[in-house]
Amino acid sequence: MKKDDLGFSTRAIHTSIAAPDVPSTPIAIPIHQTASFAFDGTTHLDAALEDLGSGFVYSRLTNPTVDALERGVADLERGGAALAFSSGMAAIHGALIGTCKSGDHIVAPSALYGGSFGLMKKVLPRYGVTTTFVENGDLEAIKAAMRPETKVVYTETIANPNLAVADLPALARIAHDAQAKLVVDNTFASPYLCRPIEHGADIVVHSASKYLGGHGDLIGGMLIGGRDEVTELQRLLIEVGGAMAPFVAWLVLRGLKTLSLRMNQHTASAQQIAEALDARDDVRVVHYPGLPNHPDHEVAKRTLSNGFGGMVAFELVGGDRARVSRFLDALELISLAGSLGDAHSLALAPAFTTHRQFAPAERAAAGIPDGFIRLSVGLEDPKDLLADLDAALGA
Ligand code: PLP
Repeated sequence: MKKDDLGFSTRAIHTSIAAPDVPSTPIAIPIHQTASFAFDGTTHLDAALEDLGSGFVYSRLTNPTVDALERGVADLERGGAALAFSSGMAAIHGALIGTCKSGDHIVAPSALYGGSFGLMKKVLPRYGVTTTFVENGDLEAIKAAMRPETKVVYTETIANPNLAVADLPALARIAHDAQAKLVVDNTFASPYLCRPIEHGADIVVHSASKYLGGHGDLIGGMLIGGRDEVTELQRLLIEVGGAMAPFVAWLVLRGLKTLSLRMNQHTASAQQIAEALDARDDVRVVHYPGLPNHPDHEVAKRTLSNGFGGMVAFELVGGDRARVSRFLDALELISLAGSLGDAHSLALAPAFTTHRQFAPAERAAAGIPDGFIRLSVGLEDPKDLLADLDAALGA
């Protein structure tokens, strides 16, 4: 067809999509904002559909920007391959429905992110998958909860919100002795502090909305595992949807470039703040794995590298709801907000927010009294955060 004979609308639609043929490449990966990919013939299309890793067909399946992120995160987590999702919950849902079918069983800790708890407690039982919740770190109780139909031992590296640190090698042994998989939510640690696969985990999941992205401006999730396992999960989960958008993948890739620098600062400031809070009379207890009095301090020293993370939790003396509100309302620099892992410091009371769907007995089992505060230590100058906390505690 002769180009000059084409009509205006045809030419507007068929503007060149090929990159100029120059001997240089962009430093930042382009955002491949496209729904589908055109093929030069059916042979190549057939091959790409047969082997999803060999080409790009449709952005719910694979996309070059998302693929770059998946390869990058798989490498940082020391996995064989990764999949990116529209949210952390989509990644966790994908990991669990990809490993369990009706009749199967999960063993999970009683303190974990409220959304994950809700998925296991309310959603999965509708499809015949049940969960037994066991106190974090009680290895004998975890062993006792295992059944022939248990397919997953689930844990968070550092638990939301009580900051219990999982003994990953011990959990991997329990899971593997029962032919089950160890699935680890590594959101609070990030791969800079912990690579669960090195400790025996089979599948790692992340809310990329947190430290991976790092700037509080996106919602995304990741799943990492062995290459064959991830390929199998990808084949299943493309029918479910929930793929990450290319622009979100681009933002996460940008965040990853400074992950180690950010984590070093989050961790150094959190350690300083935890020590300062621990010395106060109006704070009943501080939960921070970097404090020698934390029950999992020794496990944390074995499992984490480069520090103990940017999350600090503490309980206010006389911590009823009114006291909690007075404290949170008085914070000026630290924002009252959900989420974590942001440059901006964020605080909330999990009992009334992230974990409000827990029944009173479930909250007690998870160790979340009313006066429990979760603080995501940001990248501000620590002296300013300490001054903000000091003023709000005096309110
Ligand atoms: N895992 C943990 C530990 C979380 O804290 C969160 C959210 O706060 C999630 C998973 C869910 O992630 P998303 O909000 O990206 O779906």
